[in-house]
Amino acid sequence: MKVRKPPFPSAGLFGTCETFQPEVGKELYAWAKQLFPLHRSLTGKGNLETLRFIQTKVPGLKIKALKSGTRCLDWVIPPEWNVQDAYILDPRGKKIIDFRKNNLHVMAYSEPVDKRLTLNELQAHLYSLKNQPTAIPYLTTYYKKRWGFCLSHQQRKKLKPGMYRAVIQASKKNGNLVYGELLLPGKSRKEVFLSTYICHPSMANDQLSGVVVLTALARWLSHCRQRNHSFRLIWIPETIGAIAYLSQNLKKMKKQIRVGWQLACLGDPGPFSFLPSRQGDTQADKISKKILGENGKSFRVWSFLKRGSDERQWCFPGVDLPVASVMRSKYGAYPEYHTSLDNLSFVRPKSLGEAYHLYKKILGLADENFYWRIKTIAEPNLGKRNLYPDLGTKDTAAAIESLSNVIAFADGSTSCVEIAERCKIPALECVKILRLLRAAKLVTAVSGG
Ligand code: ZN
Repeated sequence: MKVRKPPFPSAGLFGTCETFQPEVGKELYAWAKQLFPLHRSLTGKGNLETLRFIQTKVPGLKIKALKSGTRCLDWVIPPEWNVQDAYILDPRGKKIIDFRKNNLHVMAYSEPVDKRLTLNELQAHLYSLKNQPTAIPYLTTYYKKRWGFCLSHQQRKKLKPGMYRAVIQASKKNGNLVYGELLLPGKSRKEVFLSTYICHPSMANDQLSGVVVLTALARWLSHCRQRNHSFRLIWIPETIGAIAYLSQNLKKMKKQIRVGWQLACLGDPGPFSFLPSRQGDTQADKISKKILGENGKSFRVWSFLKRGSDERQWCFPGVDLPVASVMRSKYGAYPEYHTSLDNLSFVRPKSLGEAYHLYKKILGLADENFYWRIKTIAEPNLGKRNLYPDLGTKDTAAAIESLSNVIAFADGSTSCVEIAERCKIPALECVKILRLLRAAKLVTAVSGG
């Protein structure tokens, strides 16, 4: 339907959230390619390098550090882990596993080791996947002291009896857990919250897709003036990072966050999927479902029971943040997940670009998602406010119907996305109508959505 052009400048989020930039997908893919080789974990130099890279795209990003040993709610920040080198030499002295070729080869948080062992002894420290013989698995041992190497089952089967040498040159000592934070003030102190993780080594979908999409969104949000809401964006190690962040910010977050999203797995060619908040009916849930529903393609809805990323913390009892997750193929639900097959050929520029554009619409709507109340008692006179078209065509009849329907639901307790849902009109069209009504001084925002 056609509504008169809203008399608002288009510099805000809403004005640019529908702008399609076809080149962004390729740019995001190029970023992922640059970040792919870095060795990330809960802590370590690779995390800092990842954040410094993000800072080159989003100069306002603050890199923050928490010292090893810091108590955070029920947890303690672990020692900083850095690997200088790691390899296995076969009985003839040939390097058969090399951390420098693929950082998935070393189980994350392995203890340092330099040992000669028989094949049998070595087997106790080797990890592979029988069902995916070409894949190197991604494994971690964050809180149990041990060491291990991950390799393809194909390679493991070829190992001949004899004496091997396993070397992991790694340090685990007091240092820092680092994370990135970007706070963008808006007209209101109420916040939209976005989070992703930076703790996985060389994997593309379940790691870099969330990082690059959030970075591009941060760049766009930084350039948008006239943000209605403030925005809080974080790039943190999963679980311990989220818990540490909560331990520092919980009070503020509970008071200020209106809606939020956990970004993960946005680069594979699979269709979009949705994982609700624990409550399931927050404004974040409603906005996600509305924008996904208008995307023209079917999407999968997961149960909160299938959660796996930091929505585990954001939606925990007592935290209760309205955080949902829009993904492509969900972590754990695709065969390449947590293996070397989740690489740069698994993610696509087009998929990353589509995810970025979808999230722009989600945020454009989130920023406008107020509860509106009509100011008149009984229907307003639209004609005298020049809102009633003087030409009666089919188009204008539909426009008038939408306009009067939106007015009918502007009761002060129905949010913008709920009005759009009730009126069966696209969400961003509903925003446009409400902006027209606001310009005509017919509606007032009661509170943020
Ligand atoms: Zn993961």
